[in-house]
Order: sequence, then structure tokens, then C-alpha cells
Amino acid sequence: MSMRIVIVGGVAAGMSAAARARRLDENAEIIVLERGDEVSFANCGLPYYVSGEIAERDSLLLQTPQSLRAALDLDVRIRNEVTGVDPATKTVTVRNDQGEHELSYDALILAPGATAVRPPIDGLDRRRVHTLRTVGDAVALRELADGGATRAVILGAGFIGLEAAEALRHQGLETTLVELGPHVLPPLEPELATLVTAELSRLGIDVRAGVAAQAIEPGDTHDTVVLADGTRVEADLIVLSVGVRPETSVFEAAGVACDNGAIIVDEYGRTNLSGIYAAGDAVVSTDATTGARRPVALAGPANRAGRQIADHIVRPERARPIPTAVGTAIVRVGELTAALTGANRASLDRAGIEFHTLHLHPTQHAGYYPGARQLAIVAHIHADDGRVLGAQAVGLDGVDKRIDVLATSIRAGFTVADLIDLDLAYSPIYGSAKDPINMLGMVGTNVLDGTLSLWYADAWEALRNQALILDVRRTDEFAAGHLPGALHVPHTQLRERLDEVRDAAAGRPVRVLCASGVRSHIANRVLLQAGFDSASLSGGMLTLRATLSDEVLVSGE
Ligand SMILES: Cc1cc2nc3c(=O)[nH]c(=O)nc-3n(C[C@H](O)[C@H](O)[C@H](O)COP(=O)(O)OP(=O)(O)OC[C@H]3O[C@@H](n4cnc5c(N)ncnc54)[C@H](O)[C@@H]3O)c2cc1C
Repeated sequence: MSMRIVIVGGVAAGMSAAARARRLDENAEIIVLERGDEVSFANCGLPYYVSGEIAERDSLLLQTPQSLRAALDLDVRIRNEVTGVDPATKTVTVRNDQGEHELSYDALILAPGATAVRPPIDGLDRRRVHTLRTVGDAVALRELADGGATRAVILGAGFIGLEAAEALRHQGLETTLVELGPHVLPPLEPELATLVTAELSRLGIDVRAGVAAQAIEPGDTHDTVVLADGTRVEADLIVLSVGVRPETSVFEAAGVACDNGAIIVDEYGRTNLSGIYAAGDAVVSTDATTGARRPVALAGPANRAGRQIADHIVRPERARPIPTAVGTAIVRVGELTAALTGANRASLDRAGIEFHTLHLHPTQHAGYYPGARQLAIVAHIHADDGRVLGAQAVGLDGVDKRIDVLATSIRAGFTVADLIDLDLAYSPIYGSAKDPINMLGMVGTNVLDGTLSLWYADAWEALRNQALILDVRRTDEFAAGHLPGALHVPHTQLRERLDEVRDAAAGRPVRVLCASGVRSHIANRVLLQAGFDSASLSGGMLTLRATLSDEVLVSGE
């Protein structure tokens, strides 16, 4: 008798599992139950339908039940919601427009995804409040944008919130982006988030970070979003995107073990109940670098886990374990790209892992080739062995390539020394003979072996009275803006003016800086070898300004 595989949820993880199971087993009966109107739709493409960049709704529909029947002989049942599971009899309860019925399974794959978090904000159930999770949601937002809406408020500046804000602004709406956390894209390091905020402002998006939305007051022609600081923002439409939570209550009620609502699975996607597997946004993942356990709402891991579960069901002897989560994500914001992989400072601190942070501002390709643009890269490396723990980058070009190499490096367990040795594709149009990744390796190994001692912009307040700040930039750069009290000695003059530095330091440590950290590294080497207690500012003035803002600077010579 053939095996019956029942799958709950017909998008990323669920449909990957279904397709793989069929490719491995022509005889299995594969039933996909999807409560929505569509299966296999492009969730990640929804914002670009809202913006109009994807013109046709049908472009979002990658498959239909009919095409999946034809190509893969799948039994895909839309508008079929699973409302219960009985693990003892191995049946699920299914509700559709004809009522409820039971369906038995040999293997059950839970891929129900996540749902938008609904925080306790008065008026959230108003009709002008939307989410962006389904094709229907995207169609509704596009219709409003096309139909004369002029003001949008986005609640939550995570990835989906940023994409929604950009899309609605692209459609010409006055757009306000509200974020409770101190800055947009909360997982991004603050010194990079500053760059994203500046780009959002350039696009004309009004960013309100560090403030909660308190209430949505209804009105006849529009609603008003009231913020905790008393600001009132009028809106024709509101997008709720403050995060997601696993959509698992039905399964938890059936005895599937969960942690904070996310299904607990082993490395083959097995839950605690025999024959029941789970994957995607609904499950707990283990973070590859910190070991923290949390759901990871990303399409790539969901698709791959679905595929691997099908392997385990159909041919367990050859199934590969599902890996721990590196967590790599990317988003376009206007002309910028922001991307991150692995752990950030906050998650490393929580895990108690000792690390060094590196800031680099290389260009995406050879500086002499036209169009060279600076990237801002932040990387965290293990303080003992130099393993790459996490990295983030923001820039106009070349961000995706670097973050993908670093994501690969984290998966491979590479150290900064390994980064030096990577042979990456190079011609002046695409990179540099020392690619930013190689440079990261060189800076990292210098830090680990003590060749380069760093100081960080956020230490400036504490340092200003205890150290001599030595600015080694050119005179015109210094005059345009420098830290108050800094001694100015261009790095080309430093060797001749060491006595002047020694006098000014008067026994205090010297903290050197330049624009990006390249010249201060040279100066720092001179000072260290001359016996100074010296350190170079990580990321230079570019990082300092992004960390502390321009207000700390004074101008003039
Ligand atoms: C607007 C948007 C943009 C995104 N952009 C990106 C991106 O650029 N990159 C990226 O990596 N990730 C992105 N994601 C996240 C990515 O789409 C998800 O991580 C991925 O789809 C999760 O896959 P999944 O199979 O777990 O859940 P989903 O793909 O969400 O599928 C779950 C399905 O299960 C159905 N379902 C739930 N409960 C039941 C039930 N009881 N019975 C029947 N059916 C049920 C739901 O209706 C849903 O269709 C984006 C998500 C959204 C919403």
C-alpha cells in the first residue's frame, strides 16, 4: 500500500516537502492542505507588487493546484484548514466550505508558517489596518495606493516594514515609519542603521524610531495613529508589521511540543509525536553561532528544511540533518542594500561570547575604476580563535556578494585567517586584488595577534579626558569637523613630530583616528613601535559619525 503524506501549509516549507517527496516516491499519496486561496505564492515578492515593480498579480503565483497536479501529481486542496490533529489515530481534522472531515496520514508535515504579531494597541482591528502576508493583503494595499490613498503609516521597521514603507513611498504616498526600538531594522548594528535611516529620509519617508504607537483613532475619512510622545499621524492606510509569531495553536493543543509557541524539532525535523514533522517559520531553530533557540522566519531555510524532511520520510537512511541557523537576510532601501549574517553584538553579549568588532569601509571594486562606492562593513570575530561570528554591511553595490561570502564562511567555521586566503573573483569592475573580504581577514588577524589595537567610537565620552585623541587626517578633513581637543598631526608628518605627540599626551594613552581606519592603522603602528600606548579608531570618522552623530564634532583648524 502506498504511503499517505499529509502536509499542512502549501507555501515555502510545505510545498518544497511535497515536491521533493513526489520526486523521490512516485507511489506516495501526497495531500497538501492550505487554508488560504493560493499555494506556492511568492511571499517575498509581495512588497514589489505593492510598489508596482511587479506589475501583474499573477506573477506572484508560482504554481496552482492544477499545475502541481499536472507536474507532480500532488493533491493540493486550497481553502482547507486543519483544525485538529489526533496523533493516536493519525488523523487530522479539516475544515472547508463543505464542513469538517477527518483525513488519515502516515506522515504529517506541519508547515503553517507564522502570523503577524498584534500588540496591544487600541484600534488595531480597524479596517484601515492591514498586514502584508498574503497575495490578498498585497492586492488590497496596491488597490488603496492606486485608488487615491495618500498617507500611509507603517508600524514596525523590520524587514517587511521597511519593504512596505519603501513600496508605498514608491507609489507616492506620504509614508511614516514607526519603530519601537531605538532604530530601524533592529537586528542591524546602530552604526549601520544610521545609514539606512538617512536613506529612508532621503526617500521622503518620515522615520519615528524609539517611540511606541499607542492607539489608532478612527475617523470617517482617515484614521489617526497616536504615538507615545503625543504625535498624531493621519493615515489612509496602516500596515502592521511589528513581527511574526508561529501559527501553531492547533498543533500545540494536539500535544506537539512547543517552546513559546514554536514547534520543537530534532535535526531531521521530527516533533515529539511519531510520524509528525515540522519546518519553516513555525519551528524553533538553533542559532549556529550563539546556540540560542528561536524561530527564524526566512524563506531559504524553510524551503530547504521542507525538502530535507521529505528525504527523511521517504528514504531516511540517506537523509541529511537540517543544519543550525546562520540567519542571513538582505533588504533594499532606496539605493542602498543592507544585509546581515550570523550573530550581532546583542546576541553575542546575551550568549556571553567574547568577541572583537571590526569596521571596514572598502570600495566595492577597485578605487581607480569609475563608480567605486564605499561599503560599510561590521564584522564580529571570536576573541580567542578568530572565527567569523557575524557580519553586516550597508552600501550601494557589492553588499550581497560580501555578505554571502561571509555567510558561507560562518557555515564553514572559517576564521579571519581563512578569509585572507579566499580566492575571490576579481577584475577592477567587480572587486579588488585584495577584496574587502580578504581585507577583513587581514584586519582581523592583526587584531587577534596584537598588531592592531582598536578603540571604538562609543568609548569617546569616557576617553576624552583620559587619552590624547590624535587625528591624522589631512588638514582640510580636520578643519571640516573633528573631535574637540584632538591633536592634529597628518600621518605623513607623524614620524617627525613624535615629540610633539609625546608632550601633548603627557603620559596618557594616545587614541588615533582618521577617516576610515587605514591611515590611523599606519600611525598606530608608528606609535606602538615608538613605545606609545596607542590604539586606532575602528572604522574611523565614518563609523564615529554614524555612531555618535555629527553634533559631537567641531570645525576649524
Ligand atoms: C512580505 C514578506 C516578504 C518576505 N521577504 C522575504 C525575503 O525577502 N527573504 C526571506 O528569506 N524571507 C522573506 N519572507 C519570509 C518567508 O516568506 C518565510 O520565512 C517563509 O515563507 C516561511 O515558510 P513557511 O512554509 O514556514 O510558511 P509560509 O510560507 O508562510 O506558509 C504557511 C502556509 O500555511 C498556511 N496555514 C497555516 N495554518 C494552516 C492550517 N491550520 N491549515 C492549513 N493551512 C495553514 C498559511 O495559510 C500559509 O499559506 C517574507 C515574508 C513576507 C510575508
